Amino acid sequence: MKIAFRLARRLTIFLAAGLLPAISGQSPDPGAIEETFVSGGGRVTVSLSPSLGQKPAEVLAWVGLAAKAVTAYYGRYPVSAVHIFVAPRAGDPVNSGSEHVGRIIIIRLDPEATPEDLKRDWTLTHEMFHLGFPSLDRSYHYLEEGLSDYLEPLARARVGQLSARKVWKDFIEGMPNGLPQAGDAGLDGTRDWGRTYWGGCIFWLLVDLDVRQRTKNARSLDDAIRAMVNAGGTGGSDWSLERVMDVGDAATGTDSIHKIHLLLGAKPFDPHLEELWRKLGVREERGRIAFDETAPLAAMRRSMTQSKNPALPLASTVRFWRWSPWATAATTLPMPETWSVRWAASR
Ligand SMILES: [Zn+2]
Repeated sequence: MKIAFRLARRLTIFLAAGLLPAISGQSPDPGAIEETFVSGGGRVTVSLSPSLGQKPAEVLAWVGLAAKAVTAYYGRYPVSAVHIFVAPRAGDPVNSGSEHVGRIIIIRLDPEATPEDLKRDWTLTHEMFHLGFPSLDRSYHYLEEGLSDYLEPLARARVGQLSARKVWKDFIEGMPNGLPQAGDAGLDGTRDWGRTYWGGCIFWLLVDLDVRQRTKNARSLDDAIRAMVNAGGTGGSDWSLERVMDVGDAATGTDSIHKIHLLLGAKPFDPHLEELWRKLGVREERGRIAFDETAPLAAMRRSMTQSKNPALPLASTVRFWRWSPWATAATTLPMPETWSVRWAASR
């Protein structure tokens, strides 16, 4: 989830200025700890609530996995610094993740969540991808959520955290949630959960496939997204849709983002997913994924879950431990109920 509404953004910047403990009325908890490590040149500071059911080392290992996947995708960490607040809350093993202004991630762990649960988690990687894409007008929120949904499994597969079969199983089972229903007016301005998360995911899949087909698989969505981050398009920046399309398309030498937006933005569009899976050479039979390597786009499908930078250096150095007066206060930030509901329904 990305908290991108103007008021929320201003509030979070205000809180991030260091005033959070004072205005939240909470006294600092002497048991809270904070640790910083570096991944791909980005400073990742983790504040751990003393009430967590997990050992600090387990939580830090989990944060390290997400940082590794995102760093490998961009070739570096997408922002110079991020502060991650981890607090307990009963629910899914990992729940209520949210990213704020490209600087802060707040996320909660069920007290019973095990190291295996954390190893399987996708939520934190999803939130970290919000750091590496600009904030857009509310009408294009689906581009923000859809991109995090699309890149998270691909990035985790590329560093060996997820199998290609699991990536395609989730895409095949999830993407029908993003198809237009009767009365749909296109993705622009949608408030529907399925259209926002999975419709946005379909949008970026179609962009990725279009770029790969037109460049004989030499370029991909990766080039577009990296170019945006290199142009300052991080979660803390406000961009127009036009800028996203212009910078992204210039990087791939295509007009793919413009084209897919024309198709999906203002009117319902059926991407014919079954036909797409057939061309990519992937099908689900009785819950199992089978690949057809003779399919016309099989090579493209394989390269989507393979890293081009397997030897990327991934420094992950523990810097220091210290008392964190923010940890308890920050994680009590109220979450808009509508988003909690929508989030609970997602995947
Ligand atoms: Zn999100």
